[in-house]
Amino acid sequence: MAAKRDYYEVLGVEKSADAEAIKKAYRKLAMKYHPDRNQGDKEAEEKFKEASEAYEVLSDDSKRRMYDQYGHEGMKNAFGGGGFNFDRDFTHGADLSDILNQFFGGGFGGGFGFGGGGRRRDPNAPQRGEDTEMRIRLSFEDALFGIEKEVRIHAAVACPECNGSGAEKGSSRTTCKHCGGAGSIRQQGGFFGMFQQTCPVCHGEGTIIEKPCRKCRGDGKVASDETLPIKVPAGIADGMSVRVPGKGNAGINGGQRGDLYLRCSVAESELFERDGQDLILRLSVSPTLLALGGEIPVETPNGTATLKIKPGTANGSVQRLRGQGVCAIGRHGTGDLHIVLIAETPQALSRNQIKLMEQLQQEESDKTYPARTKQSKAAKAFAERRAKKA
Ligand SMILES: [Zn+2]
Ligand SMILES: [Zn+2]
Repeated sequence: MAAKRDYYEVLGVEKSADAEAIKKAYRKLAMKYHPDRNQGDKEAEEKFKEASEAYEVLSDDSKRRMYDQYGHEGMKNAFGGGGFNFDRDFTHGADLSDILNQFFGGGFGGGFGFGGGGRRRDPNAPQRGEDTEMRIRLSFEDALFGIEKEVRIHAAVACPECNGSGAEKGSSRTTCKHCGGAGSIRQQGGFFGMFQQTCPVCHGEGTIIEKPCRKCRGDGKVASDETLPIKVPAGIADGMSVRVPGKGNAGINGGQRGDLYLRCSVAESELFERDGQDLILRLSVSPTLLALGGEIPVETPNGTATLKIKPGTANGSVQRLRGQGVCAIGRHGTGDLHIVLIAETPQALSRNQIKLMEQLQQEESDKTYPARTKQSKAAKAFAERRAKKA
């Protein structure tokens, strides 16, 4: 298989493109490659599907974030098995029929030869529910090590009374007679002489219910809370989402539920800072340790390590422990742990300590602090030049 094209390249937009620009670019491609305009043209159909997949990802904030961070690799779990499937995964059917209706006039109710993306001709056909998003809070350690926990979620589930149809038992949805199922009607007036308006009878649904279900009032959905066990993978970063398939809102007419995205807010750590897959530990050490050298224990995600410090180590120097960072999600490899050695000025000295340090001071020579010695010479030369100032 040829390498998958970059979604931004597919739509021909900049990485920084806003929602409006993305929609505009997709509209252009959807019109050009729509199967109804390119009967039997396999290549056009492929192009149409490719553009629809790119639009599906880039028009969704959480999917787009995931893609920006991890590329196609990051989309592995965004769609069902085997990657993007237009019939199953495209959730912007309404956008698409708006786009097409606007340009070709009404009647683009779906039935695109490969399953349709807009409103279906059959008002009782199943439609997938919306994806939902919820925020969860994680400690720094939960994100680092991964965690299994229970979360309470809120979703619209299929009404148990009418099985999600919205219609009272014995009745069903029928095509709206006012708009013929298009969900919109054409009116005289406007810039082009004609303009589209959402159908006032079915409110854009394209279908109406003769006798609405009493429990859900025709919605087909009722609010529900459930507690779910979820698994947050090790290495998740602040702002990333965990997808829980089939736990979004209920579909219509028995269509499958959308997905739930749990957006993670990760707390900061008092010990580590995180930079992508790398961890940074600002380790406070004594000036004597840096001067004399020695060993010091450090915490890493995989246990306690012993850091060897050479005599005369500079303040602020960095030691790297390879592979002791954060593991990458959906990819191989683990980041590194960077340990920055920071000399801490001693506080609350005892009389004896003061005495010893004074002794140390008395024994200092030009060689003890080479940088300071060099600087003193430069300062002296500077002062001499200043004295000759006119
Ligand atoms: Zn109901
Ligand atoms: Zn209607």
